[in-house]
Amino acid sequence: MTDPGSATQKPHTCLRNVASLWTGTEVVRGVDVMMAEGHIVTIERSSGGGGSAIDIDATGLIAMPGLVDCHTHTVWAGTRLGDFVRRQSGESYAAILEGGGGIHTTVHATRGASDEVLRALCRARLDTMLASGVTTVEIKSGYALTIEGEARLLRIARECAGPQRVVTTFLGAHAIPPDRDRAAYVDEVCGPMLAACLAYADGIDVYCDRGAFTLAEAERILRAGKAVGLSIRAHAEQVDGTGIAALAATLGALSCDHLERLDDAGIAAMARAGTVAVLLPGAMLYLHDSAPPIAKLRAAGVALSVATDFNPGSSPVRDLWTCATLACLTMGLSPEEALGGITVNAARALGLAGVGELRAGAVADVALYKPPPGEIADPRVLVQYMGGHRAEMVFVGGARVG
Ligand SMILES: [Zn+2]
Repeated sequence: MTDPGSATQKPHTCLRNVASLWTGTEVVRGVDVMMAEGHIVTIERSSGGGGSAIDIDATGLIAMPGLVDCHTHTVWAGTRLGDFVRRQSGESYAAILEGGGGIHTTVHATRGASDEVLRALCRARLDTMLASGVTTVEIKSGYALTIEGEARLLRIARECAGPQRVVTTFLGAHAIPPDRDRAAYVDEVCGPMLAACLAYADGIDVYCDRGAFTLAEAERILRAGKAVGLSIRAHAEQVDGTGIAALAATLGALSCDHLERLDDAGIAAMARAGTVAVLLPGAMLYLHDSAPPIAKLRAAGVALSVATDFNPGSSPVRDLWTCATLACLTMGLSPEEALGGITVNAARALGLAGVGELRAGAVADVALYKPPPGEIADPRVLVQYMGGHRAEMVFVGGARVG
């Protein structure tokens, strides 16, 4: 944000008389939020005074740090309605996948879509997220599974940044294409595919599970990404316990995601490494699965985050607020844990400092909400009421974008 005045003038924008605010770790009430040059300058008790270049009346509103969705697969084309209908009639996800459905349907449609179509789809999805107050979105590749195709998906994800922050993750190791030799494909992911994607990727991810990549393959892939400077994360311990969480944490993973089959060794390694546990209640519900070991993660001091895993197959869920509520209902998080999970801990899972928090010095990403009719203005009420919350105003880097 540029400041047309002198360096000594008053802070540029003030949100006056915010009813309640989530700092990232606690609720505070009755404050003014001063923003200048893209950052929060002060958060102080409401004074009632004016004097900023732009004063915004936030009386009665709830302020949140711009929400952070730290696990999505937002760039794809095609429909998976057929899979959903088959699963609801009793077929298993694995049986559908083995029959050439599942992810392969999406890979086929995505490969066949033009850049323009994929960009428009991604942008439309991001717009829906922005309207609910999500200002930072992680987007993975993984629906092309070719050298040029994976690089294209990451480039398109980057092109869709603005007004939201977009963090990109290379997920060539999402599935093994049915027509490819397994060892040759892993060689390609670690070699030319990684090289082609490097210019467009912030991190690398691997789907280590039954029917996907083995622990040895996942280790090779994560080490290759780490060696070229990518942050690392993993789809971990979802269908089978593989040991990937402990391995990824030991390699310095920012996050391990899913974790329904996480064991004690994995929890201990994640706690030691400061690896964030990313909880994905959408996928858990769609796959009729049980909850990760939340009490043990909490006891070990592992930071908990909540994300949508937005994808057309196992989690066609685009509303992060809904996931925050589901994490409470199906996994036992407290409302405060859920709020931290979609803000400060989600930013930590992406390695972003100063995002997902409202405090002096933090990036001025802010979403303002009205409480539901008749309700008190408390951020926790947005977790109590399931989903569909539209932000009244959204700021990214201090600039109003919605
Ligand atoms: Zn995922």
